[in-house]
Amino acid sequence: MRGLNARLWGMRIALDLDGVLADTIKVWLRIWNEERFPKLTYESIDTWDFWRKLGIPESEFAGVFARAWRMWEEIPPLEEGLAEKVRRLSELGRVDVVTGRPVEERERVVLWLRKHGIGYERLVVGATDKIRLGYEVYIDDSPIVATQGASSGRLVLLRDQPWNREVRSNYYVRRIRGLEEAIRILSADL
Ligand SMILES: [Mg+2]
Repeated sequence: MRGLNARLWGMRIALDLDGVLADTIKVWLRIWNEERFPKLTYESIDTWDFWRKLGIPESEFAGVFARAWRMWEEIPPLEEGLAEKVRRLSELGRVDVVTGRPVEERERVVLWLRKHGIGYERLVVGATDKIRLGYEVYIDDSPIVATQGASSGRLVLLRDQPWNREVRSNYYVRRIRGLEEAIRILSADL
């Protein structure tokens, strides 16, 4: 761990929004289940591109996701005490919230982060290729970020979710069940 932390000194941390801070899929599921079939559960969303199995185009998945964000006040935080945990993360490195949410949704994201008292240096929206942004550490639930991060030698703290269970942990990819574990890993041996 000493080597890891030496490398991470002065680290910049890309903290993901959906699936790490915000439990957006819960609202996505509510909208879906009110209107559509088959009825889905959280655990049934077991692949990143699960909409393929439903036979719907990605644009439709994204459309429901955008509707969920229009109801941003109803999107719950994914864990208790987020404000305090993110504050402790920011003592370990520079925390930017980095999300694929489109630029048009920036304001809602700002409001959501403010509502939950989450501090950050920068908010990066519309991030389509997060690894290219060159952060030292990624806290994310995406199996794509995990795979690309690992092959680029970036540390990815993969927030455990039903849709990323197939990703194997290795030196660069560590599975975490919440931000407390991220803080523990990043502060080990400092
Ligand atoms: Mg995410």
